[in-house]
Amino acid sequence: MVARVIPVEEFDLVIFGGTGDLARRKILPGLFRRYRSGQMPEGARIIGAARSDMSADEYRQMIAEAVAEFGGEESADKDGLDGFLRNLDYVPIDAKGTGGWDALAAKVRQDVVQAFYFSVAPSLFGDLAERLHTNRIANSESRIVVEKPFGRDLESARALNGTLAEHFDESQIYRIDHYLGKETVQNLMAVRFGNVLFEPLWNNHYLDHIQITVAETVGVGGRGAYYDKSGAMRDMVQNHLMQLLCLIAMEPPSKFGADAVRDEKLKVIRALEPVDSHHIVRGQYDESSDGPSYREDVENPRSFTESFIAMRCHISNWRWAGVPFYLRTGKRMKGRSSEIAVVFKDLGHSIFEGDEARHRNILAIRLQPNEGMDLQVTIKEPGPGGMRLVDVPLDMTFADALGDHEIEEADAYERLIMDVIRGNQTLFMRGDEVEAAWQWTDPLIAGWEARNDVPKHYEAGSAGPEDAMMLMHRDGRRWREIKG
Ligand code: NAP
Repeated sequence: MVARVIPVEEFDLVIFGGTGDLARRKILPGLFRRYRSGQMPEGARIIGAARSDMSADEYRQMIAEAVAEFGGEESADKDGLDGFLRNLDYVPIDAKGTGGWDALAAKVRQDVVQAFYFSVAPSLFGDLAERLHTNRIANSESRIVVEKPFGRDLESARALNGTLAEHFDESQIYRIDHYLGKETVQNLMAVRFGNVLFEPLWNNHYLDHIQITVAETVGVGGRGAYYDKSGAMRDMVQNHLMQLLCLIAMEPPSKFGADAVRDEKLKVIRALEPVDSHHIVRGQYDESSDGPSYREDVENPRSFTESFIAMRCHISNWRWAGVPFYLRTGKRMKGRSSEIAVVFKDLGHSIFEGDEARHRNILAIRLQPNEGMDLQVTIKEPGPGGMRLVDVPLDMTFADALGDHEIEEADAYERLIMDVIRGNQTLFMRGDEVEAAWQWTDPLIAGWEARNDVPKHYEAGSAGPEDAMMLMHRDGRRWREIKG
């Protein structure tokens, strides 16, 4: 099956930080794939901008190497790559100085869609926003794209929003959370709101609980200095896990439009109850035969920062009263697996004699690896021997069901960048959402910082600290196995 692509208007996309890790690993290889799929119009231009002094040809060479390394199988298409590279340009620029801004002004067209990707440290956002205006490069239609982390608490997020708002209207600001660009996450909305099957059951009458797990096998790697100031709560829960929770829990928006969807997500965040410390488990990974401990990784022997967190949350509204949401994320875990599991209630009474087992329907939405969904249903075990029941998954692996669509992580960036060019903000976080999320997480973080809360140790390659298991066991539930 061939993917149907919707072409976008001609555009100039300036990537500040165009020589950085994110640009080379995700943004440019992603754009190359969009080019190959025919989605990039003739005349679209991508302009890298960073301090490094290099010519446009040297930049093209750098990006050719990045695409070869990170672009997947498609990077073998040399003609395609040459065509893509012809759309690339480069301007040496200093976000904090004056150098390069005239050259950029001369290159960026005013009569096409303009997007400016701030793939730089957040401390440079204000400088970039201001210079784009004083040099008359941006206009009232321009779009800017900003990356996480969006602040480290409510105060800094407000300050960042304020800085951007001095120069850009909210309708021009695209705050990326790449989890929202994932195929499965968007499919979650299609499944919920495009079928008659699920929405009538999507409430506390039929659902027992919801689990969201984002498990990584890697440690903090080279990001130790940043990560140790952040931790799993700021790095993962405040943004990615909360966004997933919002999409699962939100009321049906009136339409699939930016403000309709974001209004509903905001209501979920505002309805989140404070979590008491008994319902949060923080952990740090120990050293193992194949890697150092967390504290060695971040070179801080007295670090109290968490590389793992598990928590039980409640949403205070009619739909979700009494339905716990269990969130769990960590590094150096036993598998690389992200999954949302919607666990239905027990039947309550079985009409099948001798059937002692507890049968539950579970809708499992896999974000990675192997994006797809499966719905666990109870059927009769085939064959003679009477009426024995067995639980089986109805597997909807998208790659199998939909043919040769390429579904992989980098797609999230590609899709989101194309949404920027189309002017569609639905899958981007609005400023008030980000602030509300910090408003909920700030007191939790402040609480454990104030009492010097010591994270529990967990074995690298495990499912996290024992206490995280107990968090569920105490409620008579258990985490789903981490595969992958
Ligand atoms: P990086 O590898 O350190 O790259 C930073 C880029 O900014 C480089 O191109 C650098 O080039 C440029 N730069 C630094 N100072 C500058 C200045 N004064 N003027 C103009 N350009 C300047 O960082 P990154 O990993 O790509 O991350 C970029 C942003 O994305 C950060 O906000 C990060 O938190 C976020 N992010 C990254 C990832 C990831 O996977 N890497 C994931 C999520 C979010 P020069 O040194 O040549 O100026």
